[in-house]
Amino acid sequence: MHDTGSTQLSLIRQLTFCAGHRLYRHESKCAFFHGHNYRVDIEVVGDSGGTEVDDVGRVVDFSLIKKRMLGWLDANWDHAFLVFEEDANALAAVRMVQPTKYFVMPWNPTAENMARYLLEVVAPNVLGDLGVIARRVAVWETDESCAVATLVGEQVGDAPTLAAAVCVDAR
Ligand SMILES: [Zn+2]
Repeated sequence: MHDTGSTQLSLIRQLTFCAGHRLYRHESKCAFFHGHNYRVDIEVVGDSGGTEVDDVGRVVDFSLIKKRMLGWLDANWDHAFLVFEEDANALAAVRMVQPTKYFVMPWNPTAENMARYLLEVVAPNVLGDLGVIARRVAVWETDESCAVATLVGEQVGDAPTLAAAVCVDAR
């Protein structure tokens, strides 16, 4: 490891996936079932404070961030329907369709809450052993609009437990 002095280094990796959702209790058209081509920007920093690089001069190799985060997104959110756990009506609908792939969220699946879930739950679980932490996650719903979740303070304790997509394919 090499010390970079007072300069903090971080990486940003872009990831894309497609998913459906609806916003429970939304006042307008976002209450309808619909989907987005999502883009995620994830920023990671070394867990020792971001002032160290490896012998090659990297925070971490970009390909590892892609492999871990996109691997999780492909398995769980890509081509899935994201449903808030309290949205019983939408849950019943996505369970009725065959084949189906859906992911039950602890919060309403807004871009804000998706960014928060990736930052607080997914990233610590899939990046933990790489010596980096996710500092910021942006979720782009359109080319014009994104929500940003930023880590405040230090991570304390173990990462929350990860949920997994429910896939039912009776074909
Ligand atoms: Zn939407």
